Amino acid sequence: MRLNGIHHVTAITGDAPGNVDFYARVLGLRLVKKTVNQDDPSVYHLFYADDGGSAGSDITFFEYPGARPGRAGAGMVHRVVYRLGSDDALDFWAGRLEAEGIDVQRNGGQLRFADPEGLGLQLRVVRTDDEPLVADHPEIPRELALQGFDAVCAYADDPEQSRPLLEDTLGFGAAGASSWKIRGETRGSVYMYDEAPPDQGVPGAGTVHHVAWSSRMDEHDAWRSRVAEAGVQVTPVIDRFYFRSIYLREPSGVLFEIATMGPGFATDEPLEHLGERLSLPPNFEHLRDQVERSLTPLPDPRAPRVTQ
Ligand code: ZN
Repeated sequence: MRLNGIHHVTAITGDAPGNVDFYARVLGLRLVKKTVNQDDPSVYHLFYADDGGSAGSDITFFEYPGARPGRAGAGMVHRVVYRLGSDDALDFWAGRLEAEGIDVQRNGGQLRFADPEGLGLQLRVVRTDDEPLVADHPEIPRELALQGFDAVCAYADDPEQSRPLLEDTLGFGAAGASSWKIRGETRGSVYMYDEAPPDQGVPGAGTVHHVAWSSRMDEHDAWRSRVAEAGVQVTPVIDRFYFRSIYLREPSGVLFEIATMGPGFATDEPLEHLGERLSLPPNFEHLRDQVERSLTPLPDPRAPRVTQ
């Protein structure tokens, strides 16, 4: 039983239209699902991924309109790392991001920058046989596009606290003093810690809410039992409609989710039209008129695209 790397990363935005513009237009990801927060249907939950909406490429945002900027601290993920396939891709992204007025730091085979609300992002050239998880975009040749997640980096005061859970319970392999690798049947990812800044973290716009790891459908219940048997508090299985989830807080304070690799985003709309209309879980469908009126209007992420 092996977790198949990162499933998704969920963060917070105070500016949904700006978020769509940045992740869909600038980074070239596909808005694969436009739905509402199941705990508060008056605000969006936006999902950006590759063309297929694959686990391993999916960054999602809860919208809290006008949310104050947060600040990552101990127990919070502060950087999300995406793969690139080549140094040419690195050059392309350095140029594209700078043309957008984004401050980019280049260091060897990687670029660091932040999204418009301050979420730390990194693009890194990674040699791997894992399938590149790519989204189509008219301005971004497929061979230069983002290829899915490589890593998430969190802040911790004492990463050793997390080692038993990561290694003995979740099957992560040590890959350095405060860095671990997790690899399943088709994908792998890295989880690492940096030393926490002195100031306490503040949740808010531009901060990560949780990171989810991929489980096979038929192993999900067994993961829940294994976590519970390790004495870690874990939620019941929650049906998120596009996948099933359990949540636990790892000892360094980062909220982990273990999510199933299916049924996926094409469960309620055809693959070729993912994210075009507002998707509502069946128990919210009767509220559609009311919900659509209350949501922030969004730009059409496909508008600048060449139709094919
Ligand atoms: Zn999640």
